[in-house]
Amino acid sequence: MTISPRVLLSIDYEPWFALFRRYDSLTDPEQRRALDGGFTLRALDPILDQLGSAKTSIFLVGEIAGWYTEVPQKIVAAGHELGLHCHIHRPLKNVDDLAQDLRASAHWLRQYNVRGYRAPMVGISEAAYPLLEANGFVYSSSMYAPAGLLLQRGNVWEIPVSTTNPRIHAQYAAPRDFTFKLLLHGEFPYGSSFSIGLMGGQILRIIERELKRGLSPSIFLHPYELVKPPASARLTRDLVLHPHLLPFLRDKSGFLKTLLRHFPVSPLGTYLDEMLKTRVSYPPSVERPEGVI
Ligand SMILES: [Zn+2]
Repeated sequence: MTISPRVLLSIDYEPWFALFRRYDSLTDPEQRRALDGGFTLRALDPILDQLGSAKTSIFLVGEIAGWYTEVPQKIVAAGHELGLHCHIHRPLKNVDDLAQDLRASAHWLRQYNVRGYRAPMVGISEAAYPLLEANGFVYSSSMYAPAGLLLQRGNVWEIPVSTTNPRIHAQYAAPRDFTFKLLLHGEFPYGSSFSIGLMGGQILRIIERELKRGLSPSIFLHPYELVKPPASARLTRDLVLHPHLLPFLRDKSGFLKTLLRHFPVSPLGTYLDEMLKTRVSYPPSVERPEGVI
């Protein structure tokens, strides 16, 4: 028994300024909320409208749940899977920083029984997995690897953001850092919204090809790619200083519309549940590669 291939669509729901590392050290919650300027609240209804009847995983930055309690409520009420993208968006590879970050969001994680985690910058450390497990997470989607892989660390499943298959044979394990060398070997991270911003139409063709092969590609978008953040001198200056980030701010609502018109999508948690049921149905004598189902 196999499950039907679908696009594992997620939105890393973060403020526009999460793009720029210069705001990582801004610790005053009121200043951070003022910088968001209500965008993450205003953007939600238009994004839910764009999604229509399609269901996704929305990995929420916890400080947004603190600013606007209606944001997680509306996500769940619209039938999407609510996940965690961290409490304050910054690199969180240090396990003590991650532990503190998880504590800051603990109340709404419990309230909504959150099971899925996406690390900021899709970067996770080995020590993060036991910590995620201890905090009730069932899966993470915090590394890059070819579509179709499902890896296990303890009792936490890793559902990678998708890349194309490399030209050379490779072994996969969680965690995994995406390096330039992998790119040279033909592994292209098409699931990243950066890649979608660079070459949207071609990404749709890659997705179509993967689905035809029976694989379920995992891709992510951001709210500021679906609804335009307010123009400001600050944003303009940040982009002038970091022009390589421009693909992140390219409007992807057209991409999303085409994706939803042509391909089935599902939240990551739904896919995992179906995959695990399928796995149990195999006779115990069937050999499987270590950690891969
Ligand atoms: Zn992010």
